[in-house]
Amino acid sequence: MTETLHIVGGGMAGSEAAWQAAQLGVDVVIHEMRPQVGTFAHRTGNLAEMVCSNSFRSDDSEQNAVGLLHWEMRQAGGLIMQTADRHRLPAGGALAVDRDPFSEAVTAAIAAHPRIRVEGGEIDALPDSGQWIIATGPLTSEGLGRAIQAETGSERLAFFDAIAPIVYADSIDMDVVWAQSRYDKGETEAEQKAYLNCPMDRAQYEAFIDALLAADKTEFHEGETAGYFDGCLPIEVMAERGRETLRHGPMKPVGLTNAHRPDVKPYAVVQLRRDNALGTLFNIVGFQTKMKYGAQTDVFKMIPGLENASFARLGGIHRNTFLNSPSLLDDRLRLRSRPHIRFAGQVTGVEGYVESAAMGLLAGRMAASAILGIDLPPPPPETATGALVTHITGGADAKTFQPMNVNFGLFPPLDGVKGGRRGRKDRYKGYTDRAKALWQDWLQGATAPA
Ligand SMILES: Cc1cc2nc3c(=O)[nH]c(=O)nc-3n(C[C@H](O)[C@H](O)[C@H](O)COP(=O)(O)OP(=O)(O)OC[C@H]3O[C@@H](n4cnc5c(N)ncnc54)[C@H](O)[C@@H]3O)c2cc1C
Repeated sequence: MTETLHIVGGGMAGSEAAWQAAQLGVDVVIHEMRPQVGTFAHRTGNLAEMVCSNSFRSDDSEQNAVGLLHWEMRQAGGLIMQTADRHRLPAGGALAVDRDPFSEAVTAAIAAHPRIRVEGGEIDALPDSGQWIIATGPLTSEGLGRAIQAETGSERLAFFDAIAPIVYADSIDMDVVWAQSRYDKGETEAEQKAYLNCPMDRAQYEAFIDALLAADKTEFHEGETAGYFDGCLPIEVMAERGRETLRHGPMKPVGLTNAHRPDVKPYAVVQLRRDNALGTLFNIVGFQTKMKYGAQTDVFKMIPGLENASFARLGGIHRNTFLNSPSLLDDRLRLRSRPHIRFAGQVTGVEGYVESAAMGLLAGRMAASAILGIDLPPPPPETATGALVTHITGGADAKTFQPMNVNFGLFPPLDGVKGGRRGRKDRYKGYTDRAKALWQDWLQGATAPA
């Protein structure tokens, strides 16, 4: 008899992890607190409930990173993708899902699996022994949140995300923008040039503030705001407090000289900071926002140098429990301080149904392999699953870590392809072709005994 795998949370990640491990021949117990203990967003006691939109986003596996993630999960026999495909609704190139039949079908498939048992009730402590996966999601119960904090330190488990928009480096106009840290701080040249600066004159700043104030914003969900507003104000709230607030906050023009026009002092400056080790992504510093997505792109493209910006992800602020994974997890999703516990899903700092399920798929396979004595390496970083896990467990900067969607900015660059907008189609096809071949190899290796 092999050891049983315990999974806390039967959401997108926990259900997929259980399925993968059980399909590999491991017995699994899922501990799910609903319906006995609820959350503010879930409505049912079903596994894999979709709490908000019913979209798995683009299903294009040649030109879109999330479409590629769909493809990889289908190749791995993923339960979430199989079930989504069976309950697909017409939505053009996107994969939209009939939410209730979808989660009922996941629940039924798990219940019918001879190797999986579901136990009701909340787990509120970290287990001392056994093989465990914690996949309790953005709304992890309070008791377990406290137990995780006690293990990791309070500064390494966040209860809200405050995501500033992230821009692809190759869509920034470097004829307008220059690289410089405030007061040239830093020991090395790389540190002294760690930020990209977008200068604004007075008229540009005033127009930007007007647009911010007029933009459509999203309301907070019930139960979301408590304890939030400490030190992390949305930019539009700052602008509402006074037209000059941003100029004295994240947009202050001090300690910077425009390398293109040293004689002209900018009235305000928007700064971007490198967001990944590859240098392909930059976040707009201090620009967390509750503006609606359409409004964000319109407003941010008013920033000089970002007129043609492509966004790897837009900004947002949500209730979201997530770990500082780059400092806490190893590349097999194990908690460094207690390697018998893995984390999966949104609590690892990925964002979205599909990304969460993908981290469940990986954690399920990793844990099952450990139990079965198979040496399973992490998937190559050139695959969508590998790019995501590499980012959250090491590629991202731990100091500024915020949840991330899968996107091509996380992929190691391809040699010999054109950069910028013009080369995009060929480049994306190159990324997805490369990923598909490597994913197939990894899946084959993943089932071979050590
Ligand atoms: C309000 C809201 C809106 C969202 N909207 C979207 C959206 O539109 N699109 C999108 O892609 N993503 C959205 N997300 C993110 C979404 O939650 C995740 O993408 C996805 O559901 C995360 O999957 P998961 O498996 O990590 O967590 P979940 O699917 O939330 O699953 C976690 C499970 O763990 C259980 N649980 C928690 N604590 C315990 C405990 N201590 N013991 C036992 N069980 C426990 C929960 O009941 C739940 O079933 C939203 C999140 C929130 C909070």
